[in-house]
Amino acid sequence: MRIALLGFMLESNGFAAPADEAEFRSKLWLEGDALLADVRAAASRDPGGIKGFVEVMDGAGPWTPLPLAITSAGASGPVEDGFFRRFVALIEDGLRAALPLDGVYVEAHGAASGTAEDDPEGVLFAAIRAIVGPDVPVIATLDLHANVSPEMVAQTDLLIAYITNPHVDMRERGQEAGRAMLELLGGVKTRKAFIKLPMLPPSVSLLSDRGPYGAAIARAVAMQADPAILNVSVLGNFSLGDYPKNGMSVIATARGDQAAADAAAREIATGLWARREELVARLTPIETATAMLRDACQDATLPALLFADVADNPGGGARGNTTAVLRAFLDAGIDRTAFAIHFDPELAAEAHAKGVGAHFLAHLNRNEIHPDSGQLTAEAQVMALSDGRIIGRRGLLADRTLDCGPTAWLRLEGRIDVVFVSIRHQCMEPRMLEHLGIDLHQLRGLVLKSRGHFRAGFNDIYTDAQIIEVDGPGLVTPMLHRVPWRRLPRPIWPLDDGLSWSPPEVVAVGGT
Ligand SMILES: [Zn+2]
Repeated sequence: MRIALLGFMLESNGFAAPADEAEFRSKLWLEGDALLADVRAAASRDPGGIKGFVEVMDGAGPWTPLPLAITSAGASGPVEDGFFRRFVALIEDGLRAALPLDGVYVEAHGAASGTAEDDPEGVLFAAIRAIVGPDVPVIATLDLHANVSPEMVAQTDLLIAYITNPHVDMRERGQEAGRAMLELLGGVKTRKAFIKLPMLPPSVSLLSDRGPYGAAIARAVAMQADPAILNVSVLGNFSLGDYPKNGMSVIATARGDQAAADAAAREIATGLWARREELVARLTPIETATAMLRDACQDATLPALLFADVADNPGGGARGNTTAVLRAFLDAGIDRTAFAIHFDPELAAEAHAKGVGAHFLAHLNRNEIHPDSGQLTAEAQVMALSDGRIIGRRGLLADRTLDCGPTAWLRLEGRIDVVFVSIRHQCMEPRMLEHLGIDLHQLRGLVLKSRGHFRAGFNDIYTDAQIIEVDGPGLVTPMLHRVPWRRLPRPIWPLDDGLSWSPPEVVAVGGT
């Protein structure tokens, strides 16, 4: 069995600057034997899909893995077109050299757009299909936030989305893809149903353990007990993509039974549409958050608080450097509070140059021009420095290696701690602070630039009742009515009033 392995992962924010080759290479780039070595190592850089897929295939008997390449920019802007074309050509060359192939596995995100292309995953999947032909199984895993196009469904035999948000099942879904590949290699033919809903739920309403979305995922998983059903994926969408393939999706894949796939997709989609008004964002104004933390700082019997700066989440393509909450907390005299992680390579480099213990006047965002970010000047002391390479201990990054670039812990005005990094990431892993020596248990307040993945990293310290989603500025605000949309499919809920909708009667997409 000769199986090609590859990955392309990007969640494109339509309002963020394009993601170029340098950004992709700085965040994740593995090619050929280095890719296979990575996923077979303990602390891999692969997000988990290829690792899980390879585990299953390794356990099933002799096979020939043909590792091509994986790259990821996490969340950023649209992929720069020249780079995207080069990457597709790299994959095409690799596939041709690997022929004959028995199967292809793609670790994808599914919410990419491009500077010249609205559906990069559709283009990539079509390029793969054109080379391997109609009879070779092509399976891809997708992020739960994927914006799925009909082309993505038509060009693959099976799409499998994450079922957890925070995403702690990337490796499990890779394993599921491996088991499905073995079935398809054994002769099973898939039949697929795809429903696109005119729904744009805000990101904070898509946690998988609660609400209508959690219920839909639970039902979809339960459906897989039916021998006819191979997989049912419920994709929440990434709203800030602002491109034509935006919107929630349901993909049901059956073992040869189109009617079973259609019925499953229609049931899930109908249920989501019926409960859409429960999918809302409830954020706390910065002034209220400040008052809550002031109380917690003054009264030791009150629980410590975790504030999610959801609108500036780099995990959705935001800048990761807005200072609105920091400024409010500094002005209010707050202490024993930490912020993580602020993207400010110039400030991190300056701290490294000055050394641990140095005092200086820190200029945050000195070269940043985006009006949301906000420049800020504060007295600073360098508390600790690192190269920013961490191995995670919980949640999405458990046992994975991540590079934040040169990193500095600065104490501002003698009372508020901020971790500054040189590679833009969201803060979803306690070691992003702990590796510098910050003791999370001593804090009264913790402010994280993350939308929801932090929950899987910090839930040993903070319960849901201690978590507050703050309404700050940023490129991924879930307050969708404020966003200057340009390219969304319209009409769409909740932006347009009076929509009526029901699932289409015929929802099949190109059986293979
Ligand atoms: Zn996601």
